[in-house]
Amino acid sequence: MGHKFISQRKQKKEDMFDALVKNAIDFLDSSLDDLDKRPKNSIVDFYSSIELFLKARLMSEHWTLIISRPELASIDSFQVGDFHSVFLDDAIKRMKNILNSPIPQKAIDVFKALGEHRNQIVHFAHTNYQNINATKVSVVVEQWCAWHYLHELIVTSWAPVFDDYLEEITRIHNRMMRQKEFIAIRFAEISPQIEIKRKSGSEVEVCSHCKMNAAVVAKKNHWGNDYECMVCGVTDTSIKNTEATLPCKSCGKDFQFFDKKLTNCPHCDLVIDDDYLSEACREKYSEGDGWCDDGEWVAYCHACHCDERSVFYIDGLWSCISCFDRGWQAVSCPNCDEFVTGDMDTIKYFACVRCEDDVRAGIAENGI
Ligand SMILES: [Zn+2]
Ligand SMILES: [Zn+2]
Ligand SMILES: [Zn+2]
Ligand SMILES: [Zn+2]
Repeated sequence: MGHKFISQRKQKKEDMFDALVKNAIDFLDSSLDDLDKRPKNSIVDFYSSIELFLKARLMSEHWTLIISRPELASIDSFQVGDFHSVFLDDAIKRMKNILNSPIPQKAIDVFKALGEHRNQIVHFAHTNYQNINATKVSVVVEQWCAWHYLHELIVTSWAPVFDDYLEEITRIHNRMMRQKEFIAIRFAEISPQIEIKRKSGSEVEVCSHCKMNAAVVAKKNHWGNDYECMVCGVTDTSIKNTEATLPCKSCGKDFQFFDKKLTNCPHCDLVIDDDYLSEACREKYSEGDGWCDDGEWVAYCHACHCDERSVFYIDGLWSCISCFDRGWQAVSCPNCDEFVTGDMDTIKYFACVRCEDDVRAGIAENGI
C-alpha cells in the first residue's frame, strides 16, 4: 500500500515537470510563430518561457521551490503589475541560495530587461515598440540575446535536468538561428558605431553567436578573447583556433585537421573520419597538460557527449575532435574516476558527463 502511494506521487510530480517543460517549449514556438505579425505577443510568450524553464529547473530540485511565498510580495511592484518579475527575482535567488547554482549575472540582466519590456507591453503602451519595423528588429535581437543565455543554461549546467528534451531544444535553437535577416538589419543600423569603436582602437571580430563582424574585444586571454557583440548583445569568449596539423597516412603531406567541415585529405582526398582522427591524434598528442598523471590522457567531452574519448591536449588547450570545442579543463571525476571535461563545480558537486545518469537515477530513487 505504502509503496503504491509513493510511486503514484512520484509519477504525478514527473507529469507536472513534463507539463511545465512542454509548456515552456510551446511558448518558444508560439513566440517564434508570432515574430512577424505579432511581435508584442512574441516577447510576452518568450518571457513566459524563461519563467517556465526556471520553474522547471527549481521543480526538479523540489516541488515546493516553485511556489511563490506571499510574504515576499511587495505592494509597490504589485501596484505596477510587476508581480511576474517578482517570480523571476525569487527564482534567481533560489537558484543561488538554495540550489547553489547561480545564474550568470549577464543572463540575469538580459532576462530582467526582457521581463521589464514584457510588463510594459502588457500594462502600458510601450513607446519603444510603436514603429513596426523597429519592433521586429529589436524584438528579435532582444530574444536572440535572451535565448543565447537560456539555451546555454539548458545545454550545459542544466543539461542533466532537461536531457529528455534536448532534441526539442535543438529544434528551437535552429528556428531561432534562422531569424538572420533581422540580425543583418541590426548590423546595418549600428555599423557606424562599430566603425567608431574600430577607429578608437578596439579590436572587432566575428561574433560566434550571430556571426556578424561586431564582437568588440574586451579582454585577451591565452585561450581566446572575451568580447561583447554590438549586434546581439551577447558576451562570450572566442576560443582561439588551432592550425595544428596531422600527417596524411596516404600521401604523407600535413593537413590542418581541427575543422568541423573537414571530410577528406586536401591533398589526396583520403577520407578523414572520426576513427582516423582519433587514431592519428592518439599518436601525435600522446600526453595531456602538466596536471595529468600517468594513465589515460584523452578525456570524454561534456560538450557533445561523444561516447568515445575525444578530447586531446592540442596546442596548449584541451580540444575535442568530435565537436571541435576547445578551452575547457580536463579532470578526473571524483565520483566515477573517468577523465572528463566540464565545469569544475558541476563535476565536484553533482556529477560528470559519464556518471550524471547514475547520479540522477540515484537521486530519483531516494526521493528528494
Ligand atoms: Zn553577436
Ligand atoms: Zn593525403
Ligand atoms: Zn565534444
Ligand atoms: Zn563522473
